[in-house]
Amino acid sequence: MAVYQKCIPHEYHASIFEIPYKTLKEQGIKSLFFDLDNTIIGYDEVSLSKEHVQLLNTLKKDFDVVIISNTSFKRVSLALCDIEVPFIWHAKKPLKCGFKKALSMVKQNKEDVIMIGDQLMTDVYGATRYGIQAILVRSVKRKSDRKITQFNRKLENIVLKKIQKNLPELYESRLKQYVQDH
Ligand SMILES: [Mg+2]
Repeated sequence: MAVYQKCIPHEYHASIFEIPYKTLKEQGIKSLFFDLDNTIIGYDEVSLSKEHVQLLNTLKKDFDVVIISNTSFKRVSLALCDIEVPFIWHAKKPLKCGFKKALSMVKQNKEDVIMIGDQLMTDVYGATRYGIQAILVRSVKRKSDRKITQFNRKLENIVLKKIQKNLPELYESRLKQYVQDH
């Protein structure tokens, strides 16, 4: 399977607040893995807002929640200082190690887990190649992307064009809105 075929999310939503978690639960999803930067908070924000803490605490009642981030221990632990939620730092997405670790933490099967993130090349590709479904969300603040992410976005644009050309129906239903929203 070509790389671009593994960069197609299961769904796209404008933010983590708009994901139909109830439906996911009904579908049998037991764990939610979240990216941190630009999925929950912008790179220029230090910690979660009250609304974020409230949302994650609500979700914790129905799901095992794990944060999988490529950033440092210091940044993730500070961001999550107001909530008790397990996290993996320096996850090296799209490599499998972070996903593997998260899966062993929640002790679930791959098909009962969903990854939620704002990047095709790390969150979606990383999860899909490991066999986990992914939900793509709009970046909180695209302008705050770090250098490495700016590079990933260039790759992302190439991949998006390939999907649009070769799998137009999937592009239309799962990615067009994502492109339009940025
Ligand atoms: Mg991110």
